[in-house]
Formats: sequence, structure tokens, C-alpha cells
Amino acid sequence: MDERSDLRAAVRTIPDYPKPGILFRDITTLLGDARAFRRAVDELVQPWPGSKIDKVAGIEARGFILGGAVAHQLAAGFVPIRKKGKLPHETVTIAYSLEYGVDEMEMHRDAIAPGERVILVDDLIATGGTATAAVELLRKMGAEVVAAVFVIDLPDLGGAERLRRLGVTVRTLMS
Ligand code: 5GP
Repeated sequence: MDERSDLRAAVRTIPDYPKPGILFRDITTLLGDARAFRRAVDELVQPWPGSKIDKVAGIEARGFILGGAVAHQLAAGFVPIRKKGKLPHETVTIAYSLEYGVDEMEMHRDAIAPGERVILVDDLIATGGTATAAVELLRKMGAEVVAAVFVIDLPDLGGAERLRRLGVTVRTLMS
């Protein structure tokens, strides 16, 4: 079994979650598998061995788990991007569209200094709505978004392409 199929096998698929007709890709099985978790983090950080990354930004909630490990590996700081109302200090907010309606995400205003080199992390990219909003938020803070990395890409939904059109380098481990 090669490394990629190993990683792929560690992701569990749940039919009809959270709604009928949706195939949910569950990464808790990957996180719980020591080898797969380590390999996923190693592969996510692999292109940036010598380049200075100041911060890793993780999207709530699964992006926190992967992002913390990625930040540790890169000797970078970690910045949480959270749903509105969860952060205690002064925040910057961005609204983004969901399938039905809108939502807002935010980060602390002082979490990133202008010009800092940032990698964005989440478990999965689908339509790219969430990650695009996160990139916009980071850029609003003056961050240089070096890359956005995800364990899983759902290419039919076009999110990775959408991010690339914004000039973001995208790295995903499986489709
Ligand atoms: P997007 O905004 O790209 O359409 O959706 C991506 C966001 O929704 C990510 O934050 C991701 O965690 C979550 N998401 C959507 N579908 C799935 C799925 O099948 N599995 C997992 N683990 N997360 C999903």
C-alpha cells in the first residue's frame, strides 16, 4: 500500500450526514491513527522546510487540530479563525455565504502583524466559501498568505480552483 492510499484508507465516509444525500468525509479516524495523523501533518508542511512561516491560521474546528500540529512542525505561531462571538478580545470579522444564508467568522485584530507570512489550514475544501473568506480576512489584516493546505479536496465543487484564482498556492493530500 503506498502512502497516499494509506492516508485515504484512514478517512471514514458517512452517508447521509449531516443531511440525506450528503457523503460526509470523517477525518476523526485519520486523527486517531498515529501513523496517518503524523503522515498527514508531515505531508502538509513538506514544501516549506526552509522558508520562514510566521503564523499558521486554522479554521474552527477541525482546522485547529491539524493547524496546531502544523504550526508546531514549522515552529510558527497558531491563530484561530472562529465563528462569530467566540473570541474574547477585539476582532476583525468577515461575512460569507453558505448554501442557505450567511455566516461570519473572525479573528483577533492583533493576531497577525502586517507582512507576516501565513499558512491557512483546514481539514477539507469543498466550494471554497469558507477558505476564501478566511483568506480575505487574513489579507485584510495585512498577512501574506503563503498557501492554504487541506487534507481533502472535493474537486467537483471547485473550491481549490477558486482559491488559486485568488493567487493562493493550494496543497491537498487527496481528492
Ligand atoms: P466549503 O466552504 O469549502 O464549501 O466547505 C468546507 C468547510 O466545511 C470546511 O470547514 C470543512 O471542515 C467543512 N466540511 C464540508 N463538508 C465536509 C465533509 O464532508 N467532511 C468534513 N470533515 N468537513 C466538511
